[in-house]
Amino acid sequence: METSSQERRDPVCGMDLTGIPDIVEVKVDGETFYFCSSMCADRFKTAPKKFQGEPMIHLHDVWKVFHDGDVTTEVLRGINIHIWPGDFTAIIGASGSGKSTLLNMIGLLDKPTSGGLFLDGADLAHTSEDDRALLRSKKFGFVFQQYNLIPWLTAYDNVTLPLIFAEAGNGLEREAIAKHFDTIGLGARMEHRPTELSGGEQQRVALLRAIANDPEILIGDEPTGNLDSVTGAKILDMLIALNKQEGKTLIVVTHDADIARKADQIITLKDGKTIPGHLEHAKTYTE
Ligand code: ADP
Ligand code: MG
Repeated sequence: METSSQERRDPVCGMDLTGIPDIVEVKVDGETFYFCSSMCADRFKTAPKKFQGEPMIHLHDVWKVFHDGDVTTEVLRGINIHIWPGDFTAIIGASGSGKSTLLNMIGLLDKPTSGGLFLDGADLAHTSEDDRALLRSKKFGFVFQQYNLIPWLTAYDNVTLPLIFAEAGNGLEREAIAKHFDTIGLGARMEHRPTELSGGEQQRVALLRAIANDPEILIGDEPTGNLDSVTGAKILDMLIALNKQEGKTLIVVTHDADIARKADQIITLKDGKTIPGHLEHAKTYTE
């Protein structure tokens, strides 16, 4: 990888360990590895070979800077992250800490101002918008806080819309989608428009839309943020089932400490950087 000799990285979470006070040292087969915290060290010990390989997603010194007139805002200030295939990763942090900005980077909806953004080893920080759009439609499924359903289309047409943009053969069959509607309890509502559905029902439809292309990676930006806790928990259970049972890599921005606790990895944003320790800080930055 492009790691220089000065840098020491946590192989699990990808953090640059320069200046981090409580680095954890682990020896495996005579080789020494360094971690931001015992959490990453413990994960490493469960699968040392895996964590010495290439992560699915790798952000290397990613910066995002917005210019608005004379005002410059450094939202992301040198982010280093590894995301491993099949993991459930939660991104937490105070409001305005850059969670959505980071998630949009990971989902190829936005580009870093500088730095590397690798997906399966390929640097996508500088690829064309066309290539990014194609990859996005094939690899990613998105669920947002606002359900973003198209109001004049039926639930069924909202779900099948992404199939039009992706290459044929990559998606689920139409009958399979109808079956999914049954599974989520909306079989009788496939021909309803979004305004005729409750918030929870709309988010279930949005979730079906996100998986219509059978993407490897599911991305949620506060997907339960607009729902009451019971309905929100149902949506989260559906996302986690897709992660655990179908092996989808799941990345969710959340304020909910209960959601974060269920994740394999937590990324905590503060002042435009990730902070070491992960889980230990989950309580502080969620409400
Ligand atoms: P979060 O999702 O953690 O609440 P965001 O990623 O939405 O945070 O925003 C982080 C910061 O970046 C905020 O201060 C926001 O005002 C700023 N920001 C986000 N998008 C833009 C933009 N397009 N132009 C200028 N500032 C932006
Ligand atoms: Mg946000």
